[in-house]
Amino acid sequence: MSRAGALGGFDAVAVVDWSARSRPSPEAPTADAIWIGWAEDEAVATAYRRTRAAAMADLAARLTAARAAGRRVLVGFDFPFGAPAGLAPRLTGQADALALWDWLAQEVRDGDDNANNRFDVAARINAACPGVGPFWGVPRGRSVAGVPARGSEREGHGLPERRRVEASVPRAHPVWKLYTTGSVGSQTLLGLPWLAALRRRFGADLTVWPFQAPEGGIVLAEVWPSLLSREVAAAAEPSVVRDRVQVEVLAAALARADAEGTLADLFAAAEGPDLAEEGWILGVGAEDVLRRAARAEAPPPLAPPPLRDDCFALPAGVDWTPVDEALALLRARLHPVVGTERLAVADADGRCLAGAVTAPRANPPAANSAVDGYGFAHAATGEGPQTLPLALGRAAAGAPLGAPLPPGQAVRILTGAVLPEGVDTVVLEEDCRTDGSRVAFRGPVRPGANTRRAGEDVDAGAEILAPGHRLRPPDLALLSAVGIAEVAVRARLRVGILSTGDELVPVGATTDPARTYDANRPMLLALAARWGHAPVDLGHVGDDRAALAARLDRARETADVVLTSGGASAGDEDHVSALLREAGAMQAWRIALKPGRPLALGLWRGMAVFGLPGNPVAALVCALIFARPALSRLAGGTWTAPQGFAVPAGFEKRKKPGRREYLRARIDADGRAEPFASEGSGRISGLSWAEGLVELPDGAVHVRPGDPVRFLPYAGFDV
Ligand code: AMP
Ligand code: MG
Repeated sequence: MSRAGALGGFDAVAVVDWSARSRPSPEAPTADAIWIGWAEDEAVATAYRRTRAAAMADLAARLTAARAAGRRVLVGFDFPFGAPAGLAPRLTGQADALALWDWLAQEVRDGDDNANNRFDVAARINAACPGVGPFWGVPRGRSVAGVPARGSEREGHGLPERRRVEASVPRAHPVWKLYTTGSVGSQTLLGLPWLAALRRRFGADLTVWPFQAPEGGIVLAEVWPSLLSREVAAAAEPSVVRDRVQVEVLAAALARADAEGTLADLFAAAEGPDLAEEGWILGVGAEDVLRRAARAEAPPPLAPPPLRDDCFALPAGVDWTPVDEALALLRARLHPVVGTERLAVADADGRCLAGAVTAPRANPPAANSAVDGYGFAHAATGEGPQTLPLALGRAAAGAPLGAPLPPGQAVRILTGAVLPEGVDTVVLEEDCRTDGSRVAFRGPVRPGANTRRAGEDVDAGAEILAPGHRLRPPDLALLSAVGIAEVAVRARLRVGILSTGDELVPVGATTDPARTYDANRPMLLALAARWGHAPVDLGHVGDDRAALAARLDRARETADVVLTSGGASAGDEDHVSALLREAGAMQAWRIALKPGRPLALGLWRGMAVFGLPGNPVAALVCALIFARPALSRLAGGTWTAPQGFAVPAGFEKRKKPGRREYLRARIDADGRAEPFASEGSGRISGLSWAEGLVELPDGAVHVRPGDPVRFLPYAGFDV
């Protein structure tokens, strides 16, 4: 999906790891070659190319195909796009890196076999500068007139040693160095002419950042994979060439940053007076953004945006809103109101993930044995009795054999041990006999028997947990197994609980039978805690609008959302609804639901308030059905629907159409749903007696004993 004109909006991201070799790279993949990582449609593919000519032909073909399909591509190359300020004007008369590109394209010869004249070109550049240098470094035993062998031999060339961007990345090698580690100079001299050719080929459809706005169908940018060295190390498998991992990790990170909308932050981080001449490394100045994208972490929401004033608006003209419609509205309109923090996995139980989590390493990371037994190459076995000589040593979990197993031999291997080279199959020790130097068992054995493939459980790079997932103990095991020690999670949602009503008194405060003990507050506080939130006790206020307003004002300091109980209807003493209505942000929710009178949902100066009914039975049902999923959304969690299942009814009941009904119920000894003896909404004992709710549908029903009914256990509501 292209967002034309936006800074970002790429359909693919390529990252090229360049090479300045003078001969083709070996056929078998090595580090000293060109690697292309290509991230598209949430997958990353890599290509290994042995020469610059082959790599650029491949890349040009891919870019042509992408553009023909209308797809935009960001291409990163890991060599400097410019030289330290002063070189371009000296050679071209213009303080413009792109002029330097064209100058180099004229001078550099680079053959299909990587043979090239870069030392001659460096000598020519040095000759154009005063003194000795700036380019230096030649292969041992070779001498190039005008190019000193050592950097310390240079003097008076008048150019800075480093580009401005390199002040932030001191580990990067300077552009002037032509030989040995880094050989950045050679990479640059041999890279820029190829980029100049790409510019000629794609014309105005290709732009080069930061010299041009990154708006073309193809955008080239300088990258430096070492910005992600830690993320690369975490993703690296010993058997995979590091350069390959680098291009994969960086391409995926840039693609992810784009998808998250943070790529623009990377582009925006380039700064300083010499950009047009020196260029900039994409990601420098915004390393955190890049690293978070590489770890597939959600960016910390700045301050979460406020809820919209009309977020609780119900469709006009509907008298009684069906439960499912009311839930769909809440689901669509509520969004997280809490920020994020990083927590050690061990401390993250119950928290909601701030973003998707991908596995930095596979599980298992290497092929290993599923049993204690003897391992060998399956090819060495056949049908009938088998006897193999036993190799010395053994492979145990954490203590590999350390050497390849010679063909035709077997080796002692224990559960969890990495399969030694030469072992692909294991026989259970109970199926073997051994005299210490040989092992005997009966064939045929299934190839690969009793082994676990690397990554058979989780592939490296696979998304293992989705954003908003609330972590449970098994998730902590999964995160740890794939090498994650810290996760980005949502801060706990602070849920204020406030009771209202003149009749309420603290438990035991009086024996006056006209007064009511506050039963809702402890229940709602405990529910909030069970749902993973931070409960905040806001106490009790009488039926007094000013006192209620003052209490809600204060609550904005300590809570993110408030659940009130009582006073939510439209009567004389229903001050919660009256106050929210006065504030202009209140909706009386007449839900077609029993038990439950109107709910008052509203915003108090931007803070969501759920006005629950005062009656404890109705308060609980409304809390379970409405407040629980709504709070989960506000907390950055997923929408939660209670788990229920069909059970035979242990009762008979006729119900008229027009509203959904919840009965307090248990499962009896015969596995049938048994409702509480009285449906009276004042019967608090029934709440406690029950083990869940029977849900009767909105329409008319006549339930007879044995008919299936839907039972929602309290446990399904985390109660
Ligand atoms: P209201 O919604 O304010 O009209 O209250 C409905 C009924 O619930 C009344 O009988 C109240 O006394 C009762 N009630 C309200 N709040 C509580 C509470 N926190 N604990 C126990 N009962 C309550
Ligand atoms: Mg009341």
